[in-house]
Amino acid sequence: CPFPVTMSSIKVECVLRENYRCGESPVWEEASQSLLFVDIPSKIICRWDTVSNQVQRVAVDAPVSSVALRQLGGYVATIGTKFCALNWENQSVFVLAMVDEDKKNNRFNDGKVDPAGRYFAGTMAEETAPAVLERHQGSLYSLFPDHSVKKYFDQVDISNGLDWSLDHKIFYYIDSLSYTVDAFDYDLQTGQISNRRIVYKMEKDEQIPDGMCIDAEGKLWVACYNGGRVIRLDPETGKRLQTVKLPVDKTTSCCFGGKDYSEMYVTCARDGLNAEGLLRQPDAGNIFKITGLGVKGIAPYSYAG
Ligand code: ZN
Repeated sequence: CPFPVTMSSIKVECVLRENYRCGESPVWEEASQSLLFVDIPSKIICRWDTVSNQVQRVAVDAPVSSVALRQLGGYVATIGTKFCALNWENQSVFVLAMVDEDKKNNRFNDGKVDPAGRYFAGTMAEETAPAVLERHQGSLYSLFPDHSVKKYFDQVDISNGLDWSLDHKIFYYIDSLSYTVDAFDYDLQTGQISNRRIVYKMEKDEQIPDGMCIDAEGKLWVACYNGGRVIRLDPETGKRLQTVKLPVDKTTSCCFGGKDYSEMYVTCARDGLNAEGLLRQPDAGNIFKITGLGVKGIAPYSYAG
């Protein structure tokens, strides 16, 4: 055979059938072999133990848009416009800081912890329907380990996916309605960002860029809302390297997890589908696992405060 043969054994499986309204912010917790995620409009934080196959839920009093690990134990989460600490054992929530106090219609959206233990998250105006909202109302923030909040910029439409390069010198960020994946120079010591530029412009059928994670080769995986896929991007060349389609349109976010971070978990939404869409996509709102990608992810960082 004159051509190199690539064996593809990519498998996409629906692994948790709970039909969440809008699953988001998947994060792998190695210590418990669990996947944490949120259902934003249902105001619940979920922890799915992949060993026992049990799901535990904590209900909160406002839309919860992201969850992350905490070095002190327990978790942190963005709830409404608050950065919060979460004690999983007694289900108590403690407010660490609040943002956008002058914008009553705003809420946090996606968030993630940086390699120095700061919790980054951005805001948006609450949607009147999925992806329909007053524009330019959001901002990007981070919660430092001392619980102080830094505001980076405003005029954000839908603050979404975020991650850092493997050398911690670049911050990748998605404001969904720009239809781009952007990069900034990142100063890990100070948490400062600068020099914003576009690394990828979505193609039409890829629809809206949503959650994002980096793999162990420094490539970005972006969940395509309404596009029913995750795409792998080379942020250095700006080229798409791979597309993995899922049997649901509203793919929202992705993370690596499982043994050695060799599996990818993908969340999605069912809100926004009409009756016909729900019939066509019975797994909308469920959790998917992708195996056989041939690349691993990296462990998530934990909030240091
Ligand atoms: Zn999102």
